[in-house]
Amino acid sequence: MARQLHTRAVHAGRDDLRTLGVHALPIDLSTTYPVENLEQATADLDAAVSGMIPRGSPVYARLHNPTVGRFEAAVADLEGAETAVAFASGMAAFTACLMSRLPRGRHVVAVRPVYGTTDHLLESGLLPVDVTWATPATVGSSVREDTCLVLIETPGNPTLQVVDIASVVAQAGAVPVLVDSTFASPALQQPLRHGAAFALHSGTKFLGGHGDVVAGVVATSEVLARPLRQVRVATGGLLHPLAAYLLHRGLATLPLRVERAQHSAGVLARRLQGHPAVSRVLYPGLDRTGRPCRPHPQMAGPGAVLAFELKGGYEAARGVMESVKLIVPAVSLGSTDTLIQHPAGLTHRVVDPVALAVSGVSPGLLRLSVGLEDPADLWADLGQAVDRAIAPRRVVAAGA
Ligand SMILES: *Cc1c(COP(=O)(O)O)cnc(C)c1O
Repeated sequence: MARQLHTRAVHAGRDDLRTLGVHALPIDLSTTYPVENLEQATADLDAAVSGMIPRGSPVYARLHNPTVGRFEAAVADLEGAETAVAFASGMAAFTACLMSRLPRGRHVVAVRPVYGTTDHLLESGLLPVDVTWATPATVGSSVREDTCLVLIETPGNPTLQVVDIASVVAQAGAVPVLVDSTFASPALQQPLRHGAAFALHSGTKFLGGHGDVVAGVVATSEVLARPLRQVRVATGGLLHPLAAYLLHRGLATLPLRVERAQHSAGVLARRLQGHPAVSRVLYPGLDRTGRPCRPHPQMAGPGAVLAFELKGGYEAARGVMESVKLIVPAVSLGSTDTLIQHPAGLTHRVVDPVALAVSGVSPGLLRLSVGLEDPADLWADLGQAVDRAIAPRRVVAAGA
């Protein structure tokens, strides 16, 4: 029988530890490696530069690092992928994916909403890409001869929009589909099982899980990983081995953390849904009418992130963010503690305002990343903050 998720989370990437005679993950901080045999080192360098994992020595830290390699093997295991390639941040990972595809064409098809900086990178002209924004239903008709990549994010940041991966893959035909799976984490969703070519994570979020590591990782096939590693070798968006150690250490508790936080997210989503100050709650565990439902079958659970909109708009949202005491008003997500933030004012500030409005990112929308605290304490805090929004204080004209 194939090993189950909780078992793999604890043991992935650690197969050789017993042979090595150690129990904890070894950390290799070398920036360079002694060359005892020049021909072998030359062969190792050639392998790394062409995107392969060197068999002998890493030669130099920008080419390969064994501690990072272990973490990559563990992520590949959890994603059901042949391999994975890790980067210094989620954005470095996405940039490398784009660059690795550019020789095939400059056209990218993407479905909004996506993470604000991802949207910005595609729109800003910083990279020579030409983007067509599609809906989940118009991906097929948006693909062109020169399309090199289809990008979706599911659940999407910040509206939790769930996009059917298999349907997008079918529409994309021969074009590889990249799924930003950060919100689900491999504990809840494995996009490659539905035909995606790349599963991308901001490792800064659930994978790291403790708010102290910035990282990115892409799970994919060996064929698609080679150009990604070539980009990493040439541009240097490396994950530091200490960060890889922390990420790998955190993977062992990933399914436990996600399950616990997901339970609390469900409790909070239902509480918010019934609150008079709230106009709508966006959560993969609630249907369009706000009733609890099973999430899309591509997900093992609805996850630990939700968004909600306040009837009082921007002022009410600002009030909630500034009134929470236990919950931390901060961007980012997937940490041990619960974070709340205002997408239109912060994470998605760089996105075209019209596109934001079309994606449902209104001025009254807040995003909540639920952590590991007791849900009763979380609701006590969130509830008092949302109660204040029932009658948002109006600015009264001077003298009135
Ligand atoms: C945070 C985030 C990113 C960017 O990751 P960084 O590690 O901050 O570079 C990309 N996609 C999603 C969905 C995110 O939430």
